[in-house]
Amino acid sequence: MSDRYLDLVSGGPGRSAAKKLGLPQPVRLRRTDPASVDQPLVPGPVLVLDDGVSQRAADELAETLLGWDLDVRRDPQELAKGRRWGAVVLVLTEATSPADLAGPALTLGGVLRRLAPGGRVVTVSRRADDAGEPAVVAVRQGVDGFLRSLAKELRAGATANGVVLAQDVPVGAPSAVGALRFLLSARSAFVDGQPVHVTSADGVTPADWTRPLEGMVAVVTGAARGIGAAIVSVLARDGARVVGVDVPAAGDALSRVMNEVRGSALQLDITAEDAADRILAHVRERYGRLDVVVHNAGILRDKLLANMTDDRWNDLLAVNVLAPLRMNETFAEELGAGGRIISLASTSGIAGNRGQTNYAAAKAGIIGMTRALAPVVAASGATANAVAPGFIETDMTAKIPPLPRQVARRANSLQQGGRPVDVAEAIAFLASPQAGGVNGQTLRVCGQNLVGQ
Ligand code: NAD
Repeated sequence: MSDRYLDLVSGGPGRSAAKKLGLPQPVRLRRTDPASVDQPLVPGPVLVLDDGVSQRAADELAETLLGWDLDVRRDPQELAKGRRWGAVVLVLTEATSPADLAGPALTLGGVLRRLAPGGRVVTVSRRADDAGEPAVVAVRQGVDGFLRSLAKELRAGATANGVVLAQDVPVGAPSAVGALRFLLSARSAFVDGQPVHVTSADGVTPADWTRPLEGMVAVVTGAARGIGAAIVSVLARDGARVVGVDVPAAGDALSRVMNEVRGSALQLDITAEDAADRILAHVRERYGRLDVVVHNAGILRDKLLANMTDDRWNDLLAVNVLAPLRMNETFAEELGAGGRIISLASTSGIAGNRGQTNYAAAKAGIIGMTRALAPVVAASGATANAVAPGFIETDMTAKIPPLPRQVARRANSLQQGGRPVDVAEAIAFLASPQAGGVNGQTLRVCGQNLVGQ
């Protein structure tokens, strides 16, 4: 779906006019170039700051960044004239009081004018709930408020996000490093103002960061178009062999999507009682293993509750939450170490949305299902996570009438709708071996939608 307003104001006279009139000024986001794996991770040098007490952790992360061939600095004065920072990483893992934030926060404030378009700010801190001391909890929770506010101040496609480590997770753990890399990269273009929680030290650093899913087999439901089709292509780009599932009526589109990645297509309605068994039989026959399941198929049946019919309510719940729940009974048993279940939630399930009581009940249900499933699959070394997209430009959102559509796509910090590929990139991160320490989480891909948390 094209965003004509974005086209109009992304340069030249349109941009100056929007500025003069105080209108939104979205810019084209820095995204991964599908034609090139050699794109730089960040658009300039990386400044690593700490709070004075987390220096050792900051040094360790700076070493990791150097290992990725990045130009890493610890001193804000070290930027050559005319250059801009590609990213600033704030390491705050050992902070014990809100007073510790002043140094790094104000130093960051002093360099923000020199943050490159599409630049990144990433905080690395610890989970508030793991501390008991009020001052420690206060600073850890304080980081959350800080980064969410900062994300609303950044311009030109720059974002601010956080890596939040559970108490016993070292800063060098695969998922700590993996989450940092994801948030620095173009893959996180539409993730803004979000904490990524690393819940354990599990996970494996991939031998090749450009093909982390090499050797893995993934199933994606609702693969014929929109976000599902993008998930198929991003998982295949990252090395996975992919089975795409969609209803028989979408069979031709499904074949086209799957042929493009040399994957295989399975025509199936996921509400069928035996859907999981049929998927498993297909995957076993073709590839002999199953590593990743992406519950993406979903439908909308919007109506105010006062006008809601039985059909609209029941059809929606059947596809969007009851089918994933039923299929997981089979998949949770099947998946072994490194297995992944990733489900599509929605910001509507977090903030609520007029006309979507059925949809929000189902999508909030997905968030709950994910939280409950996480400890169950962790026993066999697998994870369960969800991704909650905000406004994404697809056939689904193209059906929204023009005026509310314009309002919905501007109502986030990046002032534009996301693209299916943005959701797919987050799913590919959660599917990867380096995300093995992220479990039971819901990651929002919403440009920091103004509704909800
Ligand atoms: P879409 O309507 O473009 O595609 C959904 C696909 O699911 C279609 O190909 C459809 O045929 C398939 N499908 C529907 N029912 C099925 C069934 N019973 N069995 C098998 N396949 C079935 O939707 P999209 O915009 O790409 O959304 C994908 C997912 O992301 C959905 O779960 C949706 O709720 C979620 N989501 C989308 C947005 C957005 O802005 N587009 C926002 C939040 C969440």
